[in-house]
This record gives sequence, C-alpha cells and structure tokens, in this order.
Amino acid sequence: MAKKRVAIIGGGSSGLCSVKCCLDEGLEPVCFESSDDIGGLWRFKENPEEDRASIYKSVIINTSKEMMCFSDYPIPDDYPNYMPNSKIMEYFRQYAKHFDLLKYVRFRTKVCSATRRPDFASTGQWDVVVETDGKQESSIFDAVMVCTGHHTTAHMPLDTFPGIEKFQGRYFHSRDYKDPNEFTGKRVIVIGIGNSGGDLAVEISHTAEQVFLSTRRGAWILNRVGDKGYPGDVVFSTRFNLLLKQFLLPYIVNNWVENRLNERFNHSHYGLKPQHRFLSQHPTINDELPNRIISGKVQVKPNIKELTERAAIFEDGSKEEDIDFIVFATGYSFSFPFLGNALPVTNNQVTLYKFVFPPHLEKPTLAIIGLVQPLGAIMPISEMQARWASRVFKGLETLPSESEMLSDITAKKTAMEKRYVRSPRHTIQVDYIEYMDELASQIGVKPSIGSLSLTNPKLAWEVLMGPCTPFQYRLQGPGKWSGARKAILTQQDRIIKPLRTRPTDNSAGGGLLSLVFKMAGLAVAVFAVVCTFF
Ligand code: NAP
Repeated sequence: MAKKRVAIIGGGSSGLCSVKCCLDEGLEPVCFESSDDIGGLWRFKENPEEDRASIYKSVIINTSKEMMCFSDYPIPDDYPNYMPNSKIMEYFRQYAKHFDLLKYVRFRTKVCSATRRPDFASTGQWDVVVETDGKQESSIFDAVMVCTGHHTTAHMPLDTFPGIEKFQGRYFHSRDYKDPNEFTGKRVIVIGIGNSGGDLAVEISHTAEQVFLSTRRGAWILNRVGDKGYPGDVVFSTRFNLLLKQFLLPYIVNNWVENRLNERFNHSHYGLKPQHRFLSQHPTINDELPNRIISGKVQVKPNIKELTERAAIFEDGSKEEDIDFIVFATGYSFSFPFLGNALPVTNNQVTLYKFVFPPHLEKPTLAIIGLVQPLGAIMPISEMQARWASRVFKGLETLPSESEMLSDITAKKTAMEKRYVRSPRHTIQVDYIEYMDELASQIGVKPSIGSLSLTNPKLAWEVLMGPCTPFQYRLQGPGKWSGARKAILTQQDRIIKPLRTRPTDNSAGGGLLSLVFKMAGLAVAVFAVVCTFF
C-alpha cells in the first residue's frame, strides 16, 4: 500500500518534529516552508518580514534546555541552560541533520490554501495549493499538519488608546523591535507586561534616558535562576510538585508561590502587584526587571488613559512629558486563512480537541501543532502532539465521537476561563506535565512510576523527584528510545556542565540539617507515591 502523504505547513520547531514523527510512523511528509531556512520564530532576521514571526536580537528563551528539547535528542551538555536564539538554531540544525529531515522540506514555498476535497467525507484528503517563485501548483494529500505558530500577527489595540492619532513620537509593536540602539537618551513607554514587555523594558532601559513600563493589571515576576541556581523550570516542573499541587487547594499554592516571590522583592513596593492570584496569569519571567526598577531606569506605571502630542496621561492621573517612543508589547492574534472555513478563529478562540483536532471534520486528517501557550516548554509539546497526530493519521489511534470531543473542549474552556483573568492571551493555556501526560495517555507513552519503582528504583526516583524532562515519554510504548533512561539519569550533569567552567570545591555545606530535610522529603514522596499508584 502506498504511504500516506502528509502536508506539513511551516518549517519551524513544530514543523521539524512533525516531519520526524511522520517518518517514525512510516508516513510520507512534505514540509512547505515559505522562507529559505528552518527555525521559524527562532531565526533572527535584521528586518521583520510580513506573515512571519520576528524576534529581537538578544532574545534568550525562558525555558531551560533539559525541559525544552525534543524527547529523543538531548541538547549538547556544554550548551547553556537558557539558550540565546542562535544556540537554539544550532540545536534545530543538529536535530534536522541527525534525523535527515531537510530533504523533506520544500523551501521558498508558500501554502496558499489547503481545502477539503469533494470526496473528503470518504477519503479525508486535501487539495493543497502552494506557490514557489510565483508559480502555483496543486497536489493531493492524505493529511495536513499546520505548524505556523501563533506569534506572527501583531495585536495592536490602538482603539483603546485615546489620542494616539495626535501622538507625534514614534509607536510600533514589539515584533518590530530589534535592538536598543535608536533609544539612546530617549524617553520610552513600553505597554504590556508579558515576556516581550518585560524583556524590552529591561533592554531599552540600558540606553534610554527613562523607560516607563505601563501595565493594566501588573504581574507576578518569576526568575530564570531558581533555587540553588538551578533553572527555575527544572525546580518546579517535577511530578512530585504536581502531586503536591493536586493535593493542595489552589489558594494554598497561590499563597505559597506569592510569598516566595515577595521574599525576593515586594511586588507591591515595586508597583507590580496584580489584583489576581499567581495561577491566574501566564507567567512573566524576568530576573533583571527588579534591578532596573530599583535603579530607577524602569518606572512601572498603570494603563494609559490618554495620549497627547508628546505626553501620556496614566489612569492614576500622573503625566509623563516628552515621550519619544511607545512600544506596544501587547501580544499577538492568530488565524488560519489558508484553511478557509475548516478552522474558524474568533478573538483567539478556536475549537480544537485537545488543542489539536477540529472535532467537526468527517475524518481526523487535520492537526494543528503547537497552538498552545504552555506553562513550560512548547517544543516537547509540539512533538507529543505530532506523535499523536501521526498515529491518528496512520489509523493506529482513533478519536472519540464529535459530541465527546466537544464536551472535552467545553470543559477545558470553562476551566481556563475560571482560572485565568479574561484576556485574548489566555485562550490556549496548558500546564506542561498535565497536558503532556494527557496526550501521552492517548498513545500509551505516559511513564508508569509504579512499575518503574519495581524494576528500576533509581530511575523511578529521578522521574518522580527530578525535572519532568521530555525523555520520560520515551521510556515505554510506541517510539520507545533506548537512550531515554541514560538521558534522564544524566540530566543533572548536563545542567551543571555549562556552569562549572572553573574547577571548584564541591562541598555545599548544610550537613545534618540538609540530611534531615532530605529524609523528610523522601518520606513525603514515598507516601505520595503509595497513595497515587498503589
Ligand atoms: P502577551 O503574553 O500576550 O502579553 C501581552 C501584554 O500586553 C499583556 O500584559 C496584556 O495585558 C497587554 N495588553 C494587551 N492588550 C492590551 C491593551 N489593550 N491595553 C493594555 N495592555 C494590553 O505577549 P508577549 O509578551 O509578546 O508574549 C507572547 C508569547 O511569547 C508568550 O508566550 C511569551 O511567553 C513568549 N515570549 C517569550 C520570550 C522569551 O522566551 N524570552 C520573550 C518574549 C515573549 P493583559 O494581561 O491585561 O491582557
């Protein structure tokens, strides 16, 4: 039987792992990439290009390398824990080379449309029209994976800023920001306190005379550098912490985290304290922001009420004159015009079963990969979605009925609306371990700590107490990888290696007290495992 052909739209991180997952399942992928290179968002370009994501020169990812890698290809041990975009690109190139993926990518080829064929109800096939060098061609595919990301179209809410038409300085969206040079000696307002707003306010404040960071609701600020200097996500993304979270009420978790964050700096004193609780907002991660605030280079302000020719009046009545620039770090919106009516989007709301499959199609041959905003790393999630989707395309997994899918979607939407503050940036939120486990259960690759603890206690311990790294999903089931065990047992070494660039004495001190804490932790962990798995 001929191999099923899968059109993959986009050659960024989601597109690359989708190619790999299709190959693993014996499908025939063709990846269409409109630019001349892989990497998508993570490839820096001097100038922003229409219809493509655009990053600033200095961007450093805020998820650490052990958490963000693909599950069967660890990031080299000497790479920094938080990688600048250039290193991320190196990793993608190595991944593509190792699995020989590039020969499946058609560069400089834009997908104009992907539409259901007239006999879709029986075949599930798609007509895909692409354009290369101004020439269009159409071909038939058995399935389509959309890997175009959700950070391409700038959300520029000018209508909510009265007076913007009078403003005589320059204003632009954060996607058009590249470096801080032109801000030297200027007075700049950055609007929005997502990760773009935080990063840009900090960077611009190194050259500008003054930066004002305007936020309509404030934020809790997390650190990249976590306890004992470990990457923050490595410290909190553990199965043990997940167990604790499931046992505790959200308000206890919120109190605990907020107290920890306020111990570092009082969010109220720094003008950042939001009305909402920690778990109700996508996290802003920024180790430098408090340093720039305490040195006066960044001043936190409320929302802008009105703009004049050169001034901004804020909602607390304060006024700042002589503003040269306003940067709208106000996020993104997404849509899929090339899919026609197969996937409508309204206000960043989309109806997808487990954020992947449109439930209303007669055949499950369309998968959206990477359309989530995780509390954690997105690359392994895209990979897990692609593992699931390629097995569904192959006919190895089936989806539930449309009504079952719709009720799952409704339950997720309701939970999201209940938990998060209302904002277009909170429509595709997922929690990393919970969501990975949910997808992993679809294909039988969720690690079983119960059976691991009988066969390999050391590994079971690291799976439970250590960071929930993507390798955990290669220990068993389809796509099992023989290197997964070693990758898990050596992950701590890969974290330390790039830090320890000068030989030092290893003793950390703490002696007896530290042992007592460890023993108490062990007792709680054993109790939790027993309660959960036996
Ligand atoms: P974002 O997370 O959507 O944040 C947008 C910000 O703009 C929010 O503070 C939002 O406030 C505010 N905003 C939106 N509309 C507004 C309005 N009309 N008036 C006032 N404020 C408004 O966008 P982003 O910061 O560009 O981040 C996009 C994604 O890229 C996120 O997933 C982020 O984590 C990621 N990112 C990562 C890095 C990194 O790894 N270093 C850097 C940058 C971005 P509300 O909350 O009130 O809506």
